[in-house]
Amino acid sequence: MSHCALDTPLRIHWYLCPGHDPLPLSDLRSIARRCTEAGVYHLLLDGTPLAISGIDGILSILHQGGCRLSLMTRGTPPELDALAGIAEHSPQLWLDADGLVAPASTDLSSLDPALNHLRAAGFEAGISLPLFRDRLTLLGPLLLWAGARRAGSFKLPNIPLDARVCGPHERALCGPGDLDRLRDLLGPDALQAASGLRLQIHDLFLWELLGRPGSRHAEYGGCQGANALAYIDARGQVHACSSWPGVLGTLPDASLQGIWSGEGRRKLLGLIASRPQECEGCAAYARCRGGCRGLAVHFCSQDAKDLWCSGPR
Ligand code: SF4
Repeated sequence: MSHCALDTPLRIHWYLCPGHDPLPLSDLRSIARRCTEAGVYHLLLDGTPLAISGIDGILSILHQGGCRLSLMTRGTPPELDALAGIAEHSPQLWLDADGLVAPASTDLSSLDPALNHLRAAGFEAGISLPLFRDRLTLLGPLLLWAGARRAGSFKLPNIPLDARVCGPHERALCGPGDLDRLRDLLGPDALQAASGLRLQIHDLFLWELLGRPGSRHAEYGGCQGANALAYIDARGQVHACSSWPGVLGTLPDASLQGIWSGEGRRKLLGLIASRPQECEGCAAYARCRGGCRGLAVHFCSQDAKDLWCSGPR
């Protein structure tokens, strides 16, 4: 088991995708070592990590260094081949619904073969869907599909500011009116299906809509960027979280401990701790704390509330 050399236990989201990955394998291995030296306790490898040549060596470093591992996959045959070689690392798998279903579509026919391939190979997978605006109509059918197949876990991750948002195929983000629209789109059957799944939802507004309101207020505590969360992009740049574009430092040249104890992170923690002007007077501030600060600051300003929010309450 690794010893945490950081001031907080850290979960890292690392984007690894051959198409967007300019780093050589030696650098990826060095980044993995930087993570284990710092005592990172959990890594989610997003993108298509199993399509990276040499992924087994990267995962070996992380697993031997004490990191718990989660991997995003589309369940394709080449990914399954790679998965067979790394089963000993006991990764949790997430089926990438965003990568398998065409944007704005509700056609789920590509999901069953992918899930069945994984199950035939001996792996269970949760379902993951970053909720871009073009996914609002998909969420209800996907919850029903996941419930019917006893998928177990269902994740609505933080919106990743990677090639999906900032690249040539830019996707629209949700805003305040979209929460009401989503409430109308989700019928009672989809909400019932959600109640039978283990939900992983950091966003407070979506948790209140889909989860069990009141069940996690003590642990939510607002934005966890630069605190319990970090993000490593395809170039090795470290960010406060996947929804925060500012760069705190670059791996593997610097150590993660050095980046995490630097001035850039200290300033960010101060910014996250300050109350946005648009949240003044809000009765929910103690548990919401302005919601997702990364998206609000990047797309609006430091004084802006969460993009979903139609408050103050
Ligand atoms: S105004 Fe909205 S974003 Fe700000 S604290 Fe209240 S509920 Fe959260």
